[in-house]
Amino acid sequence: MKLICVGRNYAAHIEELENERPKDPILFLKPDTSILLKKNPFFIPDFSNDVHHEVEILVKIKKIGKHIQQKFAHKYYDEIGLGIDFTARDLQQQLKDKGHPWEKAKGFDGAAVIGNFLPKTTFNSVDDIDFRLEKNGKVVQQGNTNLMLWKIDALIEYISKYFTLKIGDIIFTGTPAGVGRVSANDVLKGYIEETELFSIKVK
Ligand code: ZN
Repeated sequence: MKLICVGRNYAAHIEELENERPKDPILFLKPDTSILLKKNPFFIPDFSNDVHHEVEILVKIKKIGKHIQQKFAHKYYDEIGLGIDFTARDLQQQLKDKGHPWEKAKGFDGAAVIGNFLPKTTFNSVDDIDFRLEKNGKVVQQGNTNLMLWKIDALIEYISKYFTLKIGDIIFTGTPAGVGRVSANDVLKGYIEETELFSIKVK
């Protein structure tokens, strides 16, 4: 399985990192070895002094497809989840400055938190889902899927032009504003509306 991640999908996050607003979605992949095993703590890797949390809505693909039209995209997923795209921001900046791929900064072991999933029937619309991340009991990031520059079904159309989507693949749909550094002993809890979907200890 693969993790397909979307960069710069929320205007306020683009502004906080002073990035340019893209014309098309920015895509990158994380390997399956980046998945943080359930109940394991997240260990800050020794090659970074600035690992950021990026809380993101996840979409789990249930059917193989390619060149999926937006109007049929809803048939390809039944579950919505929440996760973290951990990012070694210092390393990513060095790689970006050199024009190099940034996989090392985002695809390292443990860099993908995949929380629990909820049936999409939980929601009136997948384009109106509130979510948030709490660090040590304080809200640090919050968003709503209605703020995405490209909504879920548009992302599926775009992604599937390039990558065949397979059963079990997971899309990380981008992070809202409020990304920040994690430190040893932090506890990160992610919520969709009032349901807690993950709780991670940082070491
Ligand atoms: Zn991200």
